[in-house]
Amino acid sequence: MSRISVSKNGIRPVPRNASLERHTQRFLELRRGLEQIEYFCKGTVLKRMMKCGKARCACASDATKRHGPYFELTYKANGKTVNVKLSPEAAPLYRAAAQQYRQLKTLLNRLDKLSKTILRHQAKLAESTRQG
Ligand SMILES: [Zn+2]
Repeated sequence: MSRISVSKNGIRPVPRNASLERHTQRFLELRRGLEQIEYFCKGTVLKRMMKCGKARCACASDATKRHGPYFELTYKANGKTVNVKLSPEAAPLYRAAAQQYRQLKTLLNRLDKLSKTILRHQAKLAESTRQG
């Protein structure tokens, strides 16, 4: 859609910016993706097999005889690694949430890049209407 702007110098057409429109469409598309994000959680779910520490237990010498699995959520907060124990029932919930978090981050990075591109275009357009 070409628009007409009225300036002091009379009517002049504002050139339609095809790539700006394309970027805008892409931005709206990506933004809709935010609505698809389910509950999310920063971190990684780890599955661990543990030694119990008893010298005579099979786990002491045989790695395949270790106990578990035990699950934990690990993430960084204020530069420190935090580990939270998870029940076997909770583990898949948190794993899915961690996956959602990564998706959200990817989406945000793309939106950020796209926004900057669009802002550059918009700034150029705004500058082009400056009265010399
Ligand atoms: Zn053991």
